[in-house]
Amino acid sequence: MPFKALGLHPSLVQATREMRYTEPTPIQAEAIPIILSGRDLIATAQTGTGKTAAFLLPVLNQLLGQPRGATRALIVTPTRELAQQIDDVCLALAYHTDVQVGLVVGGASMGSQERAIRAGVEIIVATPGRLLDHMRLNQARFDGLQTLILDEADRMLDMGFLPDIKRIVARLPARKQTLLFSATMPPVITNLAKVLLRNPRSVQIGRRSTPAVGITQAAYPVPESLKTALLQHLLRHMDMPSVLVFTRTKHSAKRLTRAIAADGFGVAELHGNLSQGQRNRAMDGFRRGDFQVLVATNLASRGLDVEHITHVISFDVPDVPDDYVHRIGRTARAKAEGDAFILVSRAEEKSLAEIERHIGQRLPRVTLPDFDYAQAAPQRDKPARRPQSPQSRQRNADTHTSRPGRPGNSGWRSRRRR
Ligand code: AMP
Repeated sequence: MPFKALGLHPSLVQATREMRYTEPTPIQAEAIPIILSGRDLIATAQTGTGKTAAFLLPVLNQLLGQPRGATRALIVTPTRELAQQIDDVCLALAYHTDVQVGLVVGGASMGSQERAIRAGVEIIVATPGRLLDHMRLNQARFDGLQTLILDEADRMLDMGFLPDIKRIVARLPARKQTLLFSATMPPVITNLAKVLLRNPRSVQIGRRSTPAVGITQAAYPVPESLKTALLQHLLRHMDMPSVLVFTRTKHSAKRLTRAIAADGFGVAELHGNLSQGQRNRAMDGFRRGDFQVLVATNLASRGLDVEHITHVISFDVPDVPDDYVHRIGRTARAKAEGDAFILVSRAEEKSLAEIERHIGQRLPRVTLPDFDYAQAAPQRDKPARRPQSPQSRQRNADTHTSRPGRPGNSGWRSRRRR
């Protein structure tokens, strides 16, 4: 079925063509007609299914025939990176329209966001905390709001945003369309839906907790003290053009980044201890391919959409099995293929068994014949340094050179690429 058959405006259909969306994904085919009909919607869909366009296309369609100058759609999402991503997709889909989009997230100046809000940009993409800041200062006027979208609702609740969501909703008009998207549907989300949604239709795409097809998974048993060495070995010996590594803590993300950089690889880190500018530079550099490796905490495990990730490595075994599924969902996006490796110490085997039960699959164990599993562990804070080639030194230096952040990280924009 082509996008045209969904009843979307030709300017939006043209944008989907230019974005090389050949046909609607299942979530798009199901959700778009429901949203266009004005019904509330509760959708179970993981990132990677095309859910962003599933809500943006009908919302943009509804806006096209309406007067400008009032905020009519509000999208609330848990992290700045996700908000940025939604903003990017929105700008691309709205390319042939005059709809304006505003990004309201922490870590960027309040002033330009305030101006966007006051000007009544038609769509606001926000994270809960910063949106509430504006609401408390009485800057955000949502009298004309027609659609509220709660994206990654389960993640927002995991992050403790439930009180903020309630406060935000209390300041919005009672009559509106509400769309709730969540990767999982635990009771806390269905309860929230009962309060927020009126007579909703529900859509469920993809079996919960199933890794996307196209991902080859493997577990690498290794003593905890040799995990860094094993990861360095993999990087040196395997063809791994674009690697996302997950660590449990900010501290180990930092330490591992240092060790990988010392080995001569282009690497950036992404975690909550960094400023928004640093986070944007890390993401943009990784997207552009300036960094071969991005070391991230779980902050990045949901929703991040980087097309070319070839390998996702879990440096430790996550305690929550769903976190594993979300981590590895960062590769093999949009029908591509990718590898997902998990490094497992003896103490983590029980958690791995839980993950395997959760995904209904036993991961193959891989032991590398040319890796010395009996070697003495390197000193924790002094990763072994190898002599570096001039190129690798340059790569290394690049990692720490500050790059200009992406332009227009706040405020409002429209038709950016025209
Ligand atoms: P999302 O689930 O919204 O994060 O989207 C995942 C990826 O799928 C993004 O890279 C989108 O650009 C891509 N995508 C979304 N819709 C389509 C479509 N209809 N055809 C092909 N790719 C799509």
